[in-house]
Amino acid sequence: MTDFIYLDNAATTFMDYDVLKAMEPYNLEKYSNPSSIYSFSRENKSAMKRTRDVAAKLLGAKPKDIYFTSGGSEAINWAIKGVVYGNEAKGRHIVSTKIEHHATLHTLEFLEKQGFEVTYLDVDENGQIDLEELKKSIRPDTVLVSIMAANNEIGTILPLKKIGSICREKGTFFHTDAVQAIGAVEIDVEEMNIDFLSASAHKFHGPKGVGFLYLRSGIVIENLIHGGNQERGRRSGTENVAGIVGLGKALEIVMTDKEEKNRRLSMLRDQLTQGLLKIEGCRLNGPRGENRLPNNVNVSFSGVDGEALLMNLDLSGILASSGSACTSGAIDESHVLEAIGVEKEYIRGSLRFTLSKYNMEDEIEKTLRTVEEIVKRQRKIGR
Ligand SMILES: *Cc1c(COP(=O)(O)O)cnc(C)c1O
Repeated sequence: MTDFIYLDNAATTFMDYDVLKAMEPYNLEKYSNPSSIYSFSRENKSAMKRTRDVAAKLLGAKPKDIYFTSGGSEAINWAIKGVVYGNEAKGRHIVSTKIEHHATLHTLEFLEKQGFEVTYLDVDENGQIDLEELKKSIRPDTVLVSIMAANNEIGTILPLKKIGSICREKGTFFHTDAVQAIGAVEIDVEEMNIDFLSASAHKFHGPKGVGFLYLRSGIVIENLIHGGNQERGRRSGTENVAGIVGLGKALEIVMTDKEEKNRRLSMLRDQLTQGLLKIEGCRLNGPRGENRLPNNVNVSFSGVDGEALLMNLDLSGILASSGSACTSGAIDESHVLEAIGVEKEYIRGSLRFTLSKYNMEDEIEKTLRTVEEIVKRQRKIGR
């Protein structure tokens, strides 16, 4: 498939061949506008309906509560802004956490500039929030609680059911960024009292630029795009039919052999983690075992620069990610590693590997050998 080892699946994933094949006719002969009333469009409409049905089934939701978007960031922006703008009479307070994705954090910062107030919950060394603190933070004027289902950097899985029941009890809406959780974590929007949920196809072997927002019916939310009334008037614009078909196929594939795939991934994850921890000065960032995504490994090396490590890995054909990036001279350190209390030196020496079902055991072995070599070499030259 490729001649490098791809271990950056939290950033994006390889598109399944069956997804590509499913999309193909909708990029070619089935090109009609799904809003047109002639029979040529009927199949486009039913193809979109199939995706809505699959997404709804996966989440225990109603198909009519699924709205297609251009991906995770759009769904998150819409959920948060839409709810707070649509419910200003209740108040202008929002609760979230310090480890959210930038799609959430930057939306909240934007809202703070507009006069909204945000409480960012602290997390412990595993990236877990304190549920008592969550309870205390919700006030009568709290419109929304936005807490991710699983963290993209350290793999923490958050207790959606407990969070949902606190939100319900306190009478506030609950949005979850489930972009990293689809396929890895069981989600039922009814059982977990989730009012809004964001997802993105390219994080589970689907196409880029398509995702969805689950939006519980009956809740007032501002419409996102005004226009030709697509997505029941809430998100206008001619639909990305091929993308939506690809999303549906990717969801179908996610649902088959889910347990088996996750079991295999956890084994590879543990093999990689344990191997890395044998290297001198290596520490694990984030939780061990159960409450961690089955594909996430995040470690730090003392006395080593993560970015240099990353570049050397790249030269050896291994693609990963690091918790600090040097953008135009300034070091931009991971807010997530900072929130879980990792010291600066260890943030600088951090490395994230995120696996997929396409990874093989020999790739993990090669990665371990290569990382060890590079770390030793870098320590010797004193970086
Ligand atoms: C990738 C990601 C997003 C953004 O999704 P896009 O579809 O790339 O916009 C949001 N949240 C999390 C946790 C992510 O990993």
